[in-house]
Amino acid sequence: MSTSLSPALAAHLPTGLLVGGHWGAATGGRTFEVCDPATEEVLFDVADASPEDARRALGAAHDAAAAWRAVAPRERGEVLRAAYERIVARADDVAALITAECGKPYSEARAEVLYGADFLRWYAEEAVRFPGLVRTAPAGANRQLVHRRPVGPSLLITPWNFPIAMATRKIGPALAAGCTVVVKPAAQTPLTTMLVAEVLRAELEDRGLPAGVVNVVPTSRPADATSPLLTDPRLRKLSFTGSTAVGRTLLAQASGQVLSASMELGGNAPFVVMADADLDAAVEGAMVAKLRNTGQSCVAANRFLVHDSLARPFARRLAERFEALRLGPGAEPGVDLGPLIDAAAVDKVDAFVGDAVARGAQVLTGGERPDGPGSFYRPTVLAGVGPDARVAREEVFGPVAPVIAFTDDDEAIALANDTELGLAAYAYTTSLARAMRLADELEAGMIGINRGMVSDASAPFGGMKQSGLGREGGEAGIEEYLETVYVAL
Ligand code: NAD
Repeated sequence: MSTSLSPALAAHLPTGLLVGGHWGAATGGRTFEVCDPATEEVLFDVADASPEDARRALGAAHDAAAAWRAVAPRERGEVLRAAYERIVARADDVAALITAECGKPYSEARAEVLYGADFLRWYAEEAVRFPGLVRTAPAGANRQLVHRRPVGPSLLITPWNFPIAMATRKIGPALAAGCTVVVKPAAQTPLTTMLVAEVLRAELEDRGLPAGVVNVVPTSRPADATSPLLTDPRLRKLSFTGSTAVGRTLLAQASGQVLSASMELGGNAPFVVMADADLDAAVEGAMVAKLRNTGQSCVAANRFLVHDSLARPFARRLAERFEALRLGPGAEPGVDLGPLIDAAAVDKVDAFVGDAVARGAQVLTGGERPDGPGSFYRPTVLAGVGPDARVAREEVFGPVAPVIAFTDDDEAIALANDTELGLAAYAYTTSLARAMRLADELEAGMIGINRGMVSDASAPFGGMKQSGLGREGGEAGIEEYLETVYVAL
């Protein structure tokens, strides 16, 4: 099993724009650099799409739309299934690429490849299953036929933190539904998405299916490239995953032509440890919920709300576990925690820790950057954090665990819900009654009860409040790419 990027993969990796089934240069030959966050070295120069390139990509998606929609659902599913098989067969290579551009440890990257590929497999299966309805109208005078159509050419904008999964979670359902797509990956990690697009391009070509079903426009100027598309009547759908701030901007832009919009935005997940929790299980769950991708996950536990009776032992044991972790480049064997995505991310995490300390929190472990290159930050546990600290109010997106004590269940739920975000929440309790109350009252789209991980291709992923609109994954994910049409017969 190789943990670094193979020369063969590096030599054949597409670095251009994919428009109408062809990889090519950006207008004017402009490129931008993609760096390894562990070493800060440049990995690749990637084509830098201009607004004109983005328009060409939308033109290709528009031109292919009718033909793709006419492809039998079974065959659309088979394309996705074949892409799933091709990606899983190359899981080592894809994982090495994720580690190189995103920084996460190779074992985590490999788990992401399987998780990400699973969206292609799941939607290969869903392509032939979306429901319709025929019934007699209640007045008995006519029949009602309700059926689904693909919404049409879709713009898919993805973040850098899960380079394969964030792309396949959109591409899978879009293609299954019969939509063509323009994908705009994050500038930090475009290469994994481009590799997935190449797998799909090759599969479509081998089957003689329309070029232009999948188009990719990496760019260092996302607003310039995507703004013209959002006012272009050929675009019918926007699906965005990223920060709440950018999501708001895009929603405002999408309102111009009342575009169908799906939003997977930021989180501020509470991790609640009730008085009756199994402490070992809670600490174990906290390791996963906090540290996956070095804390750079939208569903990462952001605030540890722990009953007063357990707050000290929980914080101490978590700190011991954090101290035992090995920090380093993700391609190095035995590394538990990789770097943050860039120096700005380290500055932000450090500022949040400084703010909490200034408000009286104690650093039990971490709280600093290690010496040497790369954007690393030591995993940190903060005790005695007040609910007003920035680290408790905003998404830290790094390996920092603030522990906040509470005294009763009502206070725990009130603290957990005291945020405008509502993506994920976690709760540890051995009482079924408490678990059911938490499942009813926590304001989050996804709730892990005695589990530190909620993601699954077969389950609806998404948030309430300002964490988003719509769901990805599961049966719900394909709905985002379908129009409902009612025919009175
Ligand atoms: P980001 O909002 O900065 O960027 C996300 C994507 O939007 C990138 O492709 C970026 O290039 C693009 N973008 C940025 N500004 C844009 C603009 N004005 N117009 C068009 N496109 C623009 O977020 P990020 O830093 O890449 O990712 C981290 C954020 O994403 C966190 O808030 C995290 O919680 C969130 N996230 C949410 C989910 C989810 O499913 N809810 C999943 C992963 C990440």
